[in-house]
Amino acid sequence: MTDLTCAELVELVTEYLEGALPSGERQAFEVHLAACAGCAHYIEQIRYVTRLTGALAEQPVSDSTRAELLRLVRNWKTDQSQP
Ligand SMILES: [Zn+2]
Repeated sequence: MTDLTCAELVELVTEYLEGALPSGERQAFEVHLAACAGCAHYIEQIRYVTRLTGALAEQPVSDSTRAELLRLVRNWKTDQSQP
């Protein structure tokens, strides 16, 4: 198992939420989440967004939908980190 950085976690988040991560990566992901409050909060935001859209739960996610979701949550995180 390798340690994830915050940036790597962000890259893996859609696969994680889809249950598409290999078990080793999933474990590394969850270890990082348990240790990193910022990422744990980030995941909660993404789960909220995906509940709103239903995209990840209801149907396969197209690349454009995935990109749009990632853009949305990245902008959201950036906005919230501003003082
Ligand atoms: Zn982190």
